[in-house]
Amino acid sequence: SNAVQRVYNFSAGPAVLPLPVLEQVQRDLIALPGVGSSILEISHRSSHFIDIANDAKARITDLLSIPDTHEILFLQGGSRLQFSMIPMNLLEEGKAADYVLTGSWGKNAKKEAVKEGKVQVAWDGAECKYNRLPKQSELKLDPTASYVHMTSNETIEGVQFLDEIEAGDVPVVVDCSSDIFCRPLPVDKYGLIYACAQKNAGPAGVTMVVIRKDLLARGDAEMPGYMLYRNHAEADSMWNTPPTFAIYVMGLVAKWLQEDIGGLAAMEKLNREKSSLLYDVIDNNADFYAGHAEKESRSLMNVTFRLPDADVEKKFFAAAEEQNLTNLKGHRSVGGVRASVYNAMPLAGVRALADFMQQFAEDNK
Ligand code: PMP
Repeated sequence: SNAVQRVYNFSAGPAVLPLPVLEQVQRDLIALPGVGSSILEISHRSSHFIDIANDAKARITDLLSIPDTHEILFLQGGSRLQFSMIPMNLLEEGKAADYVLTGSWGKNAKKEAVKEGKVQVAWDGAECKYNRLPKQSELKLDPTASYVHMTSNETIEGVQFLDEIEAGDVPVVVDCSSDIFCRPLPVDKYGLIYACAQKNAGPAGVTMVVIRKDLLARGDAEMPGYMLYRNHAEADSMWNTPPTFAIYVMGLVAKWLQEDIGGLAAMEKLNREKSSLLYDVIDNNADFYAGHAEKESRSLMNVTFRLPDADVEKKFFAAAEEQNLTNLKGHRSVGGVRASVYNAMPLAGVRALADFMQQFAEDNK
């Protein structure tokens, strides 16, 4: 038989996709039903692709309950390009942008923003090694700022906001790259939401931006055309050739969330169940596993922890690999272990990892 063995892949991204999505892509790759050509071969201007893009948008609008005040854009360049596009479009003359730094990605976002204008740090978790989130009262927010930028889930450190920050009339811009669709999101509380797809929403290649329509007026028409949100909004994300395949797969992931999972509230419940299986093993073996994030700041998506020393850690990765539990190494900048348990990681995969971790702790204490 040529059946392939799938592992439980805990990669931080690109990451695991739902099996039913992969199966549909495989079935329809040679020819889309009713089209006779592959999604890879048809024009972005064809009615077939426009239907696919509109279907993806409608499903995402439904999942996130996106109000009429906001608009979805499908862009390229990853979330890294958003680090620049956001200040290029939203940072106003004579004003500053506030950045809440809860980890590596927030810092990277700030690094690009300072090239475009005045940036202020509203909070920086460096002193606590980004192991916790700020309380609302700790944020130094400027009521005259053009926007405030935050990272809802820090993929490397594993700290996640599970509710919103209060910024008054200042638009909140949020990087949801590693946790979009992990829970219902009150979209109306945000000026701009962005997420590259390759963690929780699809394959690499498309970055979704949900922008409040009034903010489209801000960008200066003299900047390079691709960078201006307004161009993409006016052309319905077809200002240039969009990443057609990635949009198609993202639409299938949205369909899976609606039909197989039952929406984002159900997804959040499952995500809480999955991540607590791992956090419970960490807490029950506190003499062996050291979790990075403080309990109230723990991520549902990226579970980060350390073992007693580097040798045991090496042994952990090798033993896990033998049980088909793969890609558990922490980011090269921080080391340790990181289990990414995105939406598409099945409960059975998390159970297998939790059982393995419990046994490994008992055998190596
Ligand atoms: N923000 C966050 C929270 C991320 O996890 C990542 C990717 N690891 C990025 C931004 C950068 O995304 P991209 O590689 O698509 O530019």
